[in-house]
Amino acid sequence: MTDSRNWFKPTPSSRRRSLLRSRRHGIFIEISGKQMLNFASNDYLGLATHPAVMQAACDAIAEYGLGSGASRLISGDDPLIHQLERELAEWKGFEDCLLLGSGMLANIGLLQALADRHTHVFADRLNHASLVDGVRLSGAHCHRFSHLDMDQLATMLKRYPAEHRIIVSDGLFSMDGDTADLKQMMSLAEASDTLLIIDDAHGTGTVGPEGRGLSAMADITGNSRLIEVGTLGKAFGSYGAFILGSGEMIEGLRQRMRTLIYSTALPTALPAAALVALELIRQGTLVEKLCGNLKLFRELASGLPLMPSDTPIQPLVVGKDEHALAMAEQLKRLGFFVPAIRPPTVPEGTARLRITISAAHTPQEITRLVGALESLV
Ligand SMILES: *Cc1c(COP(=O)(O)O)cnc(C)c1O
Repeated sequence: MTDSRNWFKPTPSSRRRSLLRSRRHGIFIEISGKQMLNFASNDYLGLATHPAVMQAACDAIAEYGLGSGASRLISGDDPLIHQLERELAEWKGFEDCLLLGSGMLANIGLLQALADRHTHVFADRLNHASLVDGVRLSGAHCHRFSHLDMDQLATMLKRYPAEHRIIVSDGLFSMDGDTADLKQMMSLAEASDTLLIIDDAHGTGTVGPEGRGLSAMADITGNSRLIEVGTLGKAFGSYGAFILGSGEMIEGLRQRMRTLIYSTALPTALPAAALVALELIRQGTLVEKLCGNLKLFRELASGLPLMPSDTPIQPLVVGKDEHALAMAEQLKRLGFFVPAIRPPTVPEGTARLRITISAAHTPQEITRLVGALESLV
């Protein structure tokens, strides 16, 4: 019988995921009435609770109301959205920028607009789900290369010539904390006359000169082959996403992206808050503080089985699923929230604790976390 109660097949309980029912208070997180230090947030600079950022959002709501009321093409547009687009483009070193509702909407809409069944896409195997789904929706031929394997990418590019080709990759990968070699990817893109899409959701505001991300580090920003995606939900501390590229590319996307045209514009409070967040990022102290915290964590934890990462994502490989779960439970008891990440999110046998470091942590809090980790491994 067709019925909503039996539509989904039962899954093995170890794989079942559900909502945590959590609430955050600054750097703390409360789960089932227990307060813990949060080492699981992508709010890498503490901007989600920065007083100036919160005030900007409140002021915008007081002046313009909450919802935008329609898509940007109907009546939901706002000068603050345009100002944020201009400032993001200037900061990142691109000609133009387009603001979207979220990273998921940005990637799905971007790939759907750029690619069709005649396009060949070359994608890292560990790309974010939004890029995977965008490629699927576009109907393009998809060739997936092993994680970070530039030799394999080069071979694939030789094997599949086509008029329209796109290389697609995360910049900073969120489960391993490792990074794509953007310099080499751009050389391959140039040698094979291919577009390059980099989604640097986690690198934006956290790595590179002034936190401008991996493309700034690789010195490829503004290259007209490059389209970059970033989000406001991570280091910017709020919600939303943006696409950077040449003037012609962004104008083309404005006219074509279904996730822009058929989706309600961001509430004005979000660009208002993001403009202040951007100013704070550009001042540099928060990015410096994050770097200092990272350095401290890496030094203190040098005896632990951390994955090689110099980014705010610091996975500690445990191996067996049960061990990772048990460690996460014990950490909770000690007052630290660090999630266990298990297959299928990561490969079998590499269950891990995913620690994220923020500028909002104090050196004492980081020292206490490392002490707790050492007592458990
Ligand atoms: C978080 C993330 C997204 C999704 O962004 P949202 O704004 O949360 O929808 C897309 N790509 C990458 C690489 C991400 O880490």
